[in-house]
Amino acid sequence: MKIHDFSGGFFFEPSTKQLKKLFAVKNENVFIFEPKTVTIPFDQHIGAPNELVVTIGDNVRQGQIIAKSSADISGHVHSSVSGTVLEILEVPTFDGETQRAIKIQCANEKTLPELIPADLAPEIAVRHAGIVGLGGATFPTHIKLDPADHIEIEAVILNGAECEPFLASDDYLMRYESRKILRGGELARQIIGAKKILVGIESDKPKALAAMKKAAKAIPECFVFALPVKYPQGGEGQLLETLLAKESPIDGRSVETGGFTINVATAFAIAEAVDARKSLTHRYVTITGDVAEPKVISFPLGSSVGDLIDYCGGFIGTPSRVIHGGPMMGKTITNLDFPLAKGSNGIIVFNQEHDGKLPESPCIRCNRCVTVCPVRLEPQSIDLAYRSGDLFTCDQLMAEECINCGCCTYVCPARRDLAAKISAAGNEIKSLKKELAANEK
Ligand code: SF4
Ligand code: SF4
Repeated sequence: MKIHDFSGGFFFEPSTKQLKKLFAVKNENVFIFEPKTVTIPFDQHIGAPNELVVTIGDNVRQGQIIAKSSADISGHVHSSVSGTVLEILEVPTFDGETQRAIKIQCANEKTLPELIPADLAPEIAVRHAGIVGLGGATFPTHIKLDPADHIEIEAVILNGAECEPFLASDDYLMRYESRKILRGGELARQIIGAKKILVGIESDKPKALAAMKKAAKAIPECFVFALPVKYPQGGEGQLLETLLAKESPIDGRSVETGGFTINVATAFAIAEAVDARKSLTHRYVTITGDVAEPKVISFPLGSSVGDLIDYCGGFIGTPSRVIHGGPMMGKTITNLDFPLAKGSNGIIVFNQEHDGKLPESPCIRCNRCVTVCPVRLEPQSIDLAYRSGDLFTCDQLMAEECINCGCCTYVCPARRDLAAKISAAGNEIKSLKKELAANEK
């Protein structure tokens, strides 16, 4: 099978490569973090809000459901530790707002986790386990595993590209849990009736590639591909273009290409739910940048950013920015109490020496942002329209199609914060359209 190229994107420049080296996780193993308390957000998914099902003072077990909704598009939340419910409180979100969360004091003694009921059909076990897209999308996986009947799916595509610079969580998971990841891929293949399993991994992860290729030998119609190190190779649309040479329809769903994509961490969680009856209570996260000892850590959901940075030996120098996610698509967090959740795959710290944020200047019409945009938008035109309050033009220029990859911002010599503006335009257009539709009813 031939690998194809996707449109737009870019290969990292030398300065980023140097930082990548500096920020690389050097330990071979994954660390296990055990906090004293966790603060678990009620809602860690895209969809209907959850309701609390425990009260203050309750003793809970790891794996016990603590918040859920009866709506289809929702994701149960489980206690990630055994302990006592201390408090229901509001904790910070990215956008300066707050969200509801449950604070749990961890028990001193270890107890066995509560397991998912036995003999559930795999797709029901996935729902029970609260699995959502762990590449960052956080869309409920049980819904994704139920594509419309008329869609014929050629391949389950396991996304191990992990193209954001500095992140290594999926890399480590693939090195150490390759069999379970592929087992999750097999289960997804069974549920949706696909023929093949294709795994895409960027070629700068040789150990992950070797482990996955070895494990794939035992599985029929399962193929592992080394992909070029090109950002955003791990975007769903870009991976489909690379492996199937098909573009996602603008007004349709990506699965209509015949490719059903899930992140390798999601596949791992599916195998854990179906075979070991474990709910989603832990995940891997990369803590790197200007911290004393960058690490990949398995942490219970609800651990705080501050606790994990301390676990990595604390800051080096004066911290300037702490980013949740990768440097391209991640969001700056301003409160170290921020709790890590299902969608948390990385924390990157930049100190004042490495945070080269310079002021933006007017657009010089160099067209670089247009060249790199993987969805063929005109970032500079949308940016100008948005800044002048012209949402109509933003809509004409299809701002809603932006995948927020950050390529345009990265290459802009005028340092214009294009991705943030285009994403804001897209969100405002979506809200306006929703409002209009509601008024028409
Ligand atoms: S952030 Fe949006 S507009 Fe900018 S390059 Fe990515 S997809 Fe295109
Ligand atoms: S990359 Fe920056 S300067 Fe160049 S056209 Fe786009 S917005 Fe203008």
